[in-house]
This record gives sequence, structure tokens and C-alpha cells, in this order.
Amino acid sequence: MKKDKIRLPRREWVRSPATKVKTSAKVYTRKKPAKITNEEFLEKRDFRFCPICSAELVKRVVDKKNRMACHVCGFVYYQNPVPAAAVIIEKEGKILLVQRKFNPYAESWSLPSGFMEYNETPQECAKRETKEETGLDIKIKNLFDIYLATDDPRTHVVLMVYLAAIIQGSLKAGDDAKEVRFFLPSEIPADIAFTAHKRALKEYLEKNSVNLAKNLPTILPSEQPNLV
Ligand SMILES: [Zn+2]
Repeated sequence: MKKDKIRLPRREWVRSPATKVKTSAKVYTRKKPAKITNEEFLEKRDFRFCPICSAELVKRVVDKKNRMACHVCGFVYYQNPVPAAAVIIEKEGKILLVQRKFNPYAESWSLPSGFMEYNETPQECAKRETKEETGLDIKIKNLFDIYLATDDPRTHVVLMVYLAAIIQGSLKAGDDAKEVRFFLPSEIPADIAFTAHKRALKEYLEKNSVNLAKNLPTILPSEQPNLV
């Protein structure tokens, strides 16, 4: 009598049979995000399967670094930082900050900011994120500085910080912002999310300490219509 074949239940993550790669016996577990460190979180977010052919990725030294690579189709997973843009908007000596609605760093404050979409420029990203989070239309004045942020548990970030002026709009928290407010330098909350935002703010305030100390509008009236 023919023996019944024991069929193991398929797991959701089993790769395509077309790749003819042996199923891994490895068991993957996920911890709750709140209980794991940033490093562990980053590791869990690494690709484990090839996004091209779905074979399991293996560690390989490529360009002198350990990377995850596919031995079926040759894909190499280069883990690059993700570009993002932020804006410093000063009005009457006050800086515009956004309170985060979601994790990471929910309830903490940051500059209006966000990740770049694939088909936009950094300036377009800065304008879009500001509009989404604060309701304000802005014009970019100039690039303030660029920072590398390594304390976002989702990914490492290259943050481009722009100086911007308000063109129009009404201040209103939207999208992933819980609250939006202008702060005097002395009132800026201690819990600023992300060290890159903290550094940008600190450096901006240091560079502009004279103007801010006098608490005078440092944006020309022509650039700042009274719409907010
Ligand atoms: Zn592949």
C-alpha cells in the first residue's frame, strides 16, 4: 500500500517554487516593536528574501562589506540610507515645530519633515511634507545643512534641512502631526525627536542668536503675509 505523503503546512513566507531553492528550516520570530532595541529592529527589517526572484538571501562579501545577496539571480541588497527633507520656518522669532502623532517618538516634537518620494526633488518633498503636516504653503529660501540620522529605528536617514518662508495657508495639524505650534527659542520642548533635528535646531539658533535674542521678526514683511 502506498504510504501517504506527509504534507507540511505551507508558511506564508515560503519562496516561489520556480526558484527551486530548498526551503529553509530557519524559524523566524518577530518581537513586538516596543520591546526591541533600534539595532534589533533594523536587523529584523533587512530583506530576507530576494525581491526579484524570492529565493532566500545569503550573506556575501560584496565591495568589501557583508551584504545579503541572492545566489539564484545575483541580486545584491545594498542597504542605503533614505533621503528625507525638513524645514526651519521662523516667524517673529519663533520656530515652527510639529508634534508627532505616531511612533517612532510619538508625542515628541520635530521640524516639519518626511521621507522623499521616488519622483520628487528634496525641495518638493520639503514643501509637500510642510503642507501635509502644517497646512502651510512655503517657499524654500536655501539649504541650511545636511545631516545623517542613525536614531530612526526604521532606517538610517540623510536629512536635508531647508530654511523656508510661509507664502500662505492656515496653521493646522494634519497627516501624521498631532499638533503644530511656533515656539520661542526659550520655549522649545526638550523632547525633540531625532538627533538630526536637535542638531539642526541648535545650530540654527546659535547662528541666529542675535536676532532671536531681540525677538524681532527676522523674515522680511514682504515674505511673510499675515495669513497665519
Ligand atoms: Zn534572486
